[in-house]
Amino acid sequence: MINASLETAHAGLFIEGEWRHGAGAPLTVIDPSTALPIARVSTATADDVDAAVGAAVKGLRVWRATTLHERGARLAAIADAIDARKDELIALQMRCNGKPRFEAELDVGDAAATFRYYAQCCVNGLVEGIETVSLPDPALTGQVRHEPVGVCALIVPWNFPMVTTAWKLAPALAAGCAVVIKPSELTPLAEIELMRIVAAAGVPAGVVNLVVGGRDTGAALASHRRVAKVSFTGSTAAGQAVMRSAADRMQRVSLELGGKSALIVFDDAPLDDAVELAFNGAFFNAGQMCSATSRVLVARPIHDAFVERLVARANAATAGAPDDDATIGPLISETQRERVRALLVRGIDDGARSLCGEGLATAGADAVADGGGYFFRPTVCVGVDMNNVLWREEIFGPVVSVHPFDSESEAIDLANDSDYGLVATVVTADAARGERVAAACEVGLVWINTPQLVFPQAGWGGVKRSGLGRELGPWGVRAFQELKHVIRPA
Ligand code: NAD
Repeated sequence: MINASLETAHAGLFIEGEWRHGAGAPLTVIDPSTALPIARVSTATADDVDAAVGAAVKGLRVWRATTLHERGARLAAIADAIDARKDELIALQMRCNGKPRFEAELDVGDAAATFRYYAQCCVNGLVEGIETVSLPDPALTGQVRHEPVGVCALIVPWNFPMVTTAWKLAPALAAGCAVVIKPSELTPLAEIELMRIVAAAGVPAGVVNLVVGGRDTGAALASHRRVAKVSFTGSTAAGQAVMRSAADRMQRVSLELGGKSALIVFDDAPLDDAVELAFNGAFFNAGQMCSATSRVLVARPIHDAFVERLVARANAATAGAPDDDATIGPLISETQRERVRALLVRGIDDGARSLCGEGLATAGADAVADGGGYFFRPTVCVGVDMNNVLWREEIFGPVVSVHPFDSESEAIDLANDSDYGLVATVVTADAARGERVAAACEVGLVWINTPQLVFPQAGWGGVKRSGLGRELGPWGVRAFQELKHVIRPA
């Protein structure tokens, strides 16, 4: 486990199976539930990134030659090790992100499940590398091979550390790729721990490398000449920068970006169930979810009753440190809290009405919950105009807007009137209506009367400004492969 000493910076590079210090200035990792420093980690310069990519180039030669059986065995060993060390990994997630225990448990369980799923895919045919293509000329036979794309840069954000990395690393390894991971500069400790697990699981040195650093480190990695593919999760603005730099060399990209998702509640929905889905859709992980359903559309006949219950539910939630049995953890940083607060103030200035939480005291000095950490009480807003920043922009904090609708088609139009298209939730007792609305939503995933469950078996990703490509499932592996056709005499 990480040495939490603040005097000596932890090595921030894992290259060819060894820990090294980067030449960049060390960064300080903060526990967001106390605002106190918990570790220092050295960071990578462009030269360090070059060394990491060089190691991955060598690692690729070894790894792409392994059998699927061998890859599956290593992935299963990683899953087993995560399970075996789950208590300390849960404690680490709680400390680095301030997550309540039940949220940290879900993260660690999800990371293990992802490695286990791809371990199984290696042996059950889902990752199969070669398929026959039938040709019209009987004198010839055709084959299509799914080959590893090459060295991949895996760049991830801070809201679900280790999970987001697992979603990329497990399929990349199954596909036969070597990687350089760049964790978020705010939460590098989970990925540092994951490197120890990967090495102990017998993945050869050089196949999985890591560089700690901020945006410059990410940009140096993403634009590196020997990186064949960038798999990026983060903000839409940074994803656009990655896509622009990738254009020069036609580098492959997968982008999992921001969202402004809708939850639609019809008047036949069981009200308490709908409120629970809306509460968790907006406030799980303190609202720091790309899939946050922060635009809630409610059928007019039940709108007022729904809002009343959602406000009561939000008021009953406790924001606090993980050890205090709080139901909502802090935001990740002071910068993030100020950003969320500034967006909320702008939204209220433009006419939104806040009914609870931080929004009731946006201008006041007592605007945040106490405790020293970056807490932000869950906030429900109504009277939000469709051009209001609270309706249009990703807030990435616990702020939800509720708006009434009068017909199914109006609800669909309002839900789709967004620059983003990641997910949607539909709540209705009418199964046919659920299917119709799911088909009409311009997004990558729809939950009907279901919480935001994500399974490694089902795909993840969005349309419009929410990104490009899909993670998880068999599509997650194909995203790390290139097609090669071979034609030869029969
Ligand atoms: P961010 O874009 O600031 O940073 C994400 C990662 O990219 C970090 O590691 C960062 O250092 C790096 N980075 C930043 N600029 C870069 C650049 N120009 N080139 C290369 N790397 C760069 O995002 P964040 O604040 O860490 O995370 C929040 C954002 O992530 C939100 O917008 C959220 O919606 C999005 N997100 C999306 C998904 C999804 O699956 N769609 C999941 C989680 C988070």
